[in-house]
Amino acid sequence: MSYETVIGLETHVQLSTASKIFCSDAAAFGGAPNTHISTISLAHPGTLPRLNKKAVEYAVKLGLALGCDINRRTHFDRKNYFYADLPKGFQTTQDRAPVCLGGSLTLKVGSTGQRSNPVIRIHHIHLEEDAGKSMHDQAPKHSMIDLNRAGVPLLEIVSEPDLRGPEEVAAYMEEIRRLVRWLGISDGNMEEGSMRCDVNISVRPMGSSTFGNRCEIKNMNSMRFAKRAIEYEVNRQIALIESGGTVEQETRGFDVAQGTTFSLREKENAHDYRYFPEPDLPPVVISEEYLTDIKTAMPPLPAILEQAFQTAYGLSAYDAEQLAQERDTALFAQQLLETAAVRYKGKDLSKTIANLLINKLLPWSAAGNIRPSDCPVPPVHWIDYAQMIESGQLSASAAAQRLFPAMLETPDKAPTLLATELNLLQSADSDFLEQLVDEVLARFPDKVAEYRKGKKGLLGMFMGEVMKASKGKAEPQTTTRILQEKLG
Ligand code: ADP
Ligand code: MG
Repeated sequence: MSYETVIGLETHVQLSTASKIFCSDAAAFGGAPNTHISTISLAHPGTLPRLNKKAVEYAVKLGLALGCDINRRTHFDRKNYFYADLPKGFQTTQDRAPVCLGGSLTLKVGSTGQRSNPVIRIHHIHLEEDAGKSMHDQAPKHSMIDLNRAGVPLLEIVSEPDLRGPEEVAAYMEEIRRLVRWLGISDGNMEEGSMRCDVNISVRPMGSSTFGNRCEIKNMNSMRFAKRAIEYEVNRQIALIESGGTVEQETRGFDVAQGTTFSLREKENAHDYRYFPEPDLPPVVISEEYLTDIKTAMPPLPAILEQAFQTAYGLSAYDAEQLAQERDTALFAQQLLETAAVRYKGKDLSKTIANLLINKLLPWSAAGNIRPSDCPVPPVHWIDYAQMIESGQLSASAAAQRLFPAMLETPDKAPTLLATELNLLQSADSDFLEQLVDEVLARFPDKVAEYRKGKKGLLGMFMGEVMKASKGKAEPQTTTRILQEKLG
């Protein structure tokens, strides 16, 4: 029998606010243990929380980007449990009235996927606080607790069980990461734990319309591990069913060294936590005006720009994806493409501009860790640079590689001027090229005869001679055309 994998994700995203969700302690990652703490993070008796309004704003932003309904009256609840890294004895989270309800995310999955562009429904998104961190490897006989993370704001994005395999999980996580970075609400850094997910997995016979029992694998903070964990868990569940057993609903961990999942505890239910409304925080009322302000300030969304790069500017899906990876680059690319269309009307420089950004700007930006829009080369110079390439004045040859470094060094100078000074321009001037071709053909009458008898491979040799005579300035396409005309 063949089985279908069913997955739902609970993704935790750490918000990049300056302070924690209910007090003014720093929310920054790292710091010496127990330095980002106050009596509130430590849950001293009598202290009261106060909501960080940036956290609400960030939740609303993500909700709008994912097409969720924004709950106009949202409140916090207590989730009660005992653990050493949770000094309050409860986590302040949202149960009954989360900030965002519904919404969806369309995945870009490649041709190897079973389904193309599946739409993954979002169940809801809620705000909550993170717990502290227990460290078991710092002292031989003791566990240590760092409460710096206690109270750091998190968004939990809960998907419907709409994902069908590790490839879709990876695409979903990548899309969420791009979106939170794009909106500037989180650094989406999985290595530092600012993005992690609990993976709920079940399997069912192909074609079945009911779900199987699920297991939840906790705290995956690497895409590579998540993929391995899913593959292992799917095989485990199938083997269990095939051997006549049943999958018990439970919470499991992933053992990185063994590549296996193991049981942590039986699945707890909502009533185990005795959720109840947080009495120390008033409900949050979201006004129409507040929503409008956030909507107005929203940047264009990545999926929309990526689409526009293809439809409005004819870029390939690959190029569009490269340019829309990150907001700063995408907005800069959009500005260049728009300006170029006006500056060189009737000429399509889009592909050349995309190439320059992908091959020159992005590597430069990554190497120096500088935002693309902080590149000293002004937009109009990028466009003229593209125009020189497109019109054949500037070759893609080794010599021309000197132009970009020169542009970075003297960003005020027009690239045409720089190329002239550096002697990088090539000629597509027919009179000049015809004269060179005539000279070369006159020097090799034997080869010309051979060519005419059918030895077409000699074209390359003639090209080489014309290049030499022009000192590398002959524009190859025009030269080839003239050579073929004269030889033919
Ligand atoms: P709980 O409240 O017990 O955590 P939920 O119904 O809220 O359970 O679901 C939690 C997550 O598990 C969601 O992301 C959901 O999509 C996913 N999920 C629910 N049922 C299944 C299933 N049968 N197989 C895989 N994932 C599931
Ligand atoms: Mg849950």
